[in-house]
Amino acid sequence: MNITVVGTGYVGLVTGTCLAESGANVTCVDIDVKKVEKMKAGIVPIYEPHLDVLFERNIKQNRLQFTTDLKSAIQDSTIIFLALPTPPGEDGSADLSYILGVAKDLGEMITDYKVVIDKSTVPVGTSEKVEKALNKALDSRFGNDTINRPDFDVVSNPEFLREGFAVDDFMKPDRIVIGSSSQRANDLMDKIYAPFVRQGNPVIFMDEKSAELTKYAANSFLATKISFMNEIANLCELLGANVDDVRRGIGTDTRIGNRFLFPGIGYGGSCFPKDVQALAKSSSEAEYDFKILNAVMDVNKTQKTVLVPKIKDFYNNDLKGKKFAVWGLAFKPDTDDIREAPALYIIDELIAAGAEITAFDPEAMDNVKELIGDKISYVSNEYDALDAADALLIFTEWQIFRNPNFTKIANQLKEKVIFDGRNLYDLKNMQELGFYYNSIGREEVKK
Ligand code: NAD
Repeated sequence: MNITVVGTGYVGLVTGTCLAESGANVTCVDIDVKKVEKMKAGIVPIYEPHLDVLFERNIKQNRLQFTTDLKSAIQDSTIIFLALPTPPGEDGSADLSYILGVAKDLGEMITDYKVVIDKSTVPVGTSEKVEKALNKALDSRFGNDTINRPDFDVVSNPEFLREGFAVDDFMKPDRIVIGSSSQRANDLMDKIYAPFVRQGNPVIFMDEKSAELTKYAANSFLATKISFMNEIANLCELLGANVDDVRRGIGTDTRIGNRFLFPGIGYGGSCFPKDVQALAKSSSEAEYDFKILNAVMDVNKTQKTVLVPKIKDFYNNDLKGKKFAVWGLAFKPDTDDIREAPALYIIDELIAAGAEITAFDPEAMDNVKELIGDKISYVSNEYDALDAADALLIFTEWQIFRNPNFTKIANQLKEKVIFDGRNLYDLKNMQELGFYYNSIGREEVKK
């Protein structure tokens, strides 16, 4: 089976590599020449646990190729996955220019039957737009010549993988959603995914629009769960309750479930913020006032910098010359992705207030350097960040931060002060160790 994957980001590269691992012959296409050069040289251009082993093996066994040339890549493939960016446009709607641009290119080059599978997260109606873009290009090539004009199908196949668990999620998906009105395409999709659903995880077939909406509904629901829990945490602080207990109390209810209930400094990343925004925009275009989504976005906006007023209060509103050690820059652990990372928003506000930042993140520092350069300092391990700092600020719940050497922290910081946006530590322990410890939705521990 020959497969082309267009776009080699977090979704495309994982998709291509995992499909190659199932025995398919995969060609990955990207317009980023440097990225393609890197991949050809055997370098994985993103950090994603377990991807490197599969990547190396499939390159070695000639099942995984990389190119910038779309035309040659699709020549022998019936199956073409699109894993292209759909960033928010100025008005919050998803920018479809990457997808529709490639759809037009495909219309200008296909010579035989293709299934064009959209893996990107896109608004309802995008499949139709992709179909139109392809048809428009085919019309100008073939006019009324229906004999030579190649046939194609467009399938909506949203991706649910999580960065940090992407390989596992792709290899053992909870479910596969396939939106298509073509039996021929559905049969092919069944074949592609058969190796990944051997344990009986469902392949759910539906129409294109429902598949497109399913992805937005899933991400918006999860973002709602996070924002809801953050509101409960904020209320806990005002009422003197402990959000850890409340979380355990509700999470054991099987109707609620215990996942996505951890409060913190808001959701970030390349998906939740843009997908909630895009669904809100689609709703308003359909003249539907999706009130919950607007509240979810409002709550998250405030939550991202909820630590800033706490820090300012602690220092009597004077952060000039204060030095802070930051642990964690990525929007979540096990990724180098910093898109919409709360850390960046907090750092901006602290710097604007006159503070200096020294940061450590196990994987995301290069990306942050590229984005904000020397606005902050970077160190190569978590303890070096603490030297002569007034306080430690925790923004990402990397596993290595969970059980640190508190004696070292106490010795290196000017004062034993921690602001924790991810609730990593036990309150009683912090009390016993003599730290001032401020977290989310829990009692402030005073020295
Ligand atoms: P990404 O930005 O990491 O990667 C996109 C890639 O596409 C880049 O390498 C870029 O160079 C390439 N590209 C752009 N235009 C191109 C073109 N014309 N031809 C070939 N390549 C081109 O994006 P991502 O995070 O992989 O997300 C892709 C889509 O999948 C988005 O719609 C996103 O919402 C969705 N999604 C992402 C995740 C996630 O966790 N990242 C999960 C599920 C769904």
